Amino acid sequence: MESKPGEASSKDALLGKVLDNYQDITNFIEKEMDKTNRLSIASKQLLKIKITEWALMQSQLVGQIERLEMENRSVKQERTPQGTYAQVVSKRTEPQSKVQKLVEKTKANHTLYISGNNNESGREVQIALTKIVNPTKEKIKIRAIRTTNRTVIIETPDQSDLEKLKSNQTLTTTLKVEVAKKRQPLIILYDVPSDMNEEAIAKAVYEQNLSEVLGKSEFTQNLKLRFKAGPKDKATVHHVVEVSNKIRKAILEQHKLYLGFRSMSAKDYIVVAKCNKCRDLGHVAKHCTKEEACDHCGNSCHKRDSCPHKNKPAICIPCSRRGKSCTKKGDCPTYKMMVERLIQKTNYE
Ligand SMILES: [Zn+2]
Ligand SMILES: [Zn+2]
Ligand SMILES: [Zn+2]
Repeated sequence: MESKPGEASSKDALLGKVLDNYQDITNFIEKEMDKTNRLSIASKQLLKIKITEWALMQSQLVGQIERLEMENRSVKQERTPQGTYAQVVSKRTEPQSKVQKLVEKTKANHTLYISGNNNESGREVQIALTKIVNPTKEKIKIRAIRTTNRTVIIETPDQSDLEKLKSNQTLTTTLKVEVAKKRQPLIILYDVPSDMNEEAIAKAVYEQNLSEVLGKSEFTQNLKLRFKAGPKDKATVHHVVEVSNKIRKAILEQHKLYLGFRSMSAKDYIVVAKCNKCRDLGHVAKHCTKEEACDHCGNSCHKRDSCPHKNKPAICIPCSRRGKSCTKKGDCPTYKMMVERLIQKTNYE
């Protein structure tokens, strides 16, 4: 069912009414109620605080109304799976859904790190491993295996495959076998008023949005503001927040978050680091162990200004170093691989 025209932007209209009402009452207190100044400044102040609390509650209600409408709509969409044209278009342009798909595809991977006890090279570890483990005989499914300087990284599609490797006595006595520790998901909260401190942000996110779906202590224990993003010295700033997957899901399901008198959006924060020194992906210059390279051709004997390949188009340096071809902009295979690795290292279960 389509919403009635009057309901089109019911949330904005309602919020507008709440704000008008609030202004009206505070003006009344200031200009009409006490012309002869018989009320003390303190009690006028108290009255205004009460009105503010009331207005906050109203805006919270508006958020709940919108959430109910949203749930209502998604129930209706489930009943008509083909969807209308507008729904199909909005799904395609929604970048969060792309992230969500990748998360669904990647999160199920289970990762094991295998290294030597005596500083052996990754190659040596791999040789030792293949002598001990026979995936065919032991019926172990291995999705991917890769070797770094000192470590062999094994991905299995199922936890039980990983368990089989972990319970192999010969393997665990010969080599170091460690399950990958996953980090908590990061999400970005857009356009948070710059003057709101950590405590106020956490409180508003919880009270105005999640108080009905999550317990308070569970929320406060599993939400940490990590860093700010976006341009500085603006009235609003983006906050990158570390959360449990349960909180992440609850926040992303809200579509809009209400914060004081504003509403804002939240998204998964998955950003691949780019090195300004060697021009590769996956680390920053601070942790770079390679030589500085020209950001046009990737060669380390010169800088961009004196690049002899200036007349040719710039190459994708991360891909050329990995022998991958990369032509289309926005479709870099190395970047994609890094995004998948980031997701794999994150606890989305
Ligand atoms: Zn580097
Ligand atoms: Zn160059
Ligand atoms: Zn590339």
